[in-house]
Amino acid sequence: MTPLRPAHYLDWNATAPLRPQARAAMLAVLDAPGNPSSVHGAGRKARDGIERARAEVAALIGAATERLVFTGGGTEANALGLAALSVGIDALLVSAIEHDAVMQTARAGTVPVEVWPVTADGVADLAWLAARLGRGDRVAAALMLANNETGVIQPVAEAAALLHAVGGRLHVDAVQAAGKIPVNLTALGADTLALSAHKLGGPQGAGALAFASGIRPTPLWRGGGQEQGLRPGTENVAAIAGFGAAAQAAQAELANAAVQAAWRDAAAARLKAAGARIIGEAVPRLPNTLCLAVPGWPSERQVMWLDLGGVQVSAGAACSSGKVRPSPVLEAMGEGALAPSALRASGGYATDASQWSAFADLWLDGYARVSARQRTEVA
Ligand code: PLP
Repeated sequence: MTPLRPAHYLDWNATAPLRPQARAAMLAVLDAPGNPSSVHGAGRKARDGIERARAEVAALIGAATERLVFTGGGTEANALGLAALSVGIDALLVSAIEHDAVMQTARAGTVPVEVWPVTADGVADLAWLAARLGRGDRVAAALMLANNETGVIQPVAEAAALLHAVGGRLHVDAVQAAGKIPVNLTALGADTLALSAHKLGGPQGAGALAFASGIRPTPLWRGGGQEQGLRPGTENVAAIAGFGAAAQAAQAELANAAVQAAWRDAAAARLKAAGARIIGEAVPRLPNTLCLAVPGWPSERQVMWLDLGGVQVSAGAACSSGKVRPSPVLEAMGEGALAPSALRASGGYATDASQWSAFADLWLDGYARVSARQRTEVA
């Protein structure tokens, strides 16, 4: 057994460690609390903090501050965006690889949902969309900017152009993409775009919905007039401040993406040489994400082996239940057979080459043992 080593955290797509800048911004708020709706000095200070954070988050995605509202996370931002685009339509086209935050919300709505297929590489099929739009009914669609499991980047701008040409609208879940690749609401043609703080080094439990001019979301619930009345309830000022600081830091680091990708690719090449399939390697992917599969070594055992050696990764999507279930993303790609042995490793701003190579060393060690055992059993 490989001796225990200090933990190498490679599960940033599940949640990114809190950035020091975010922590500092949050502590400053916690040490000087105030309700942003209060008119006294403490309240005004809290309000200033929220507006600073709004400007920082809006800058990360090229959005207008007056069209960006804070929410309680990515799930809620997606729900707010989908609700905004679901008014007066005949069908909601949802890509087959959407996160449950989008897929389950869409299915729970009153508008009929149609699943928009992806190609074998995990890219939303634009030919299918063009053909579907030819029907001429009123539609909206949901397409994530980058997939949480494979990291595959989606043709959002192309999809938006097709939809807009027939009066349709597009919701974009940019939760995994923001802070990892450049994101611009206008260039993408997104009508609504969802973000989550904890995926880019902010705290869990904060998110945002940005929307294009001409879009007017309706609140999911009623209460006070906070966030233009679109998200009633006293704001989570500390979390929002942390979100803003994290967004600003993430933006400053976007240039390092190529270095991250090179470390990830070096590890991937070693795994591939030993027999692993690298999912989505033929198409543009997030620089931090590695999804692989190796038939014969179940995902849970890979995760446990790596965890015992101090490397933390994920078996497909980290489900809220904590249970591992077959990946609908790989199934949608026609790779359902690989799902039971799929693994996701994902890095971030504090990951370095040594962590990716420790992951590859340990994985190769484990795989060699599994393969040797399988050979003995067959003999
Ligand atoms: N969308 C995607 C693509 C995600 O990966 C996640 C989280 O895993 C979410 C939405 C949900 O975000 P949150 O955890 O902030 O609710």
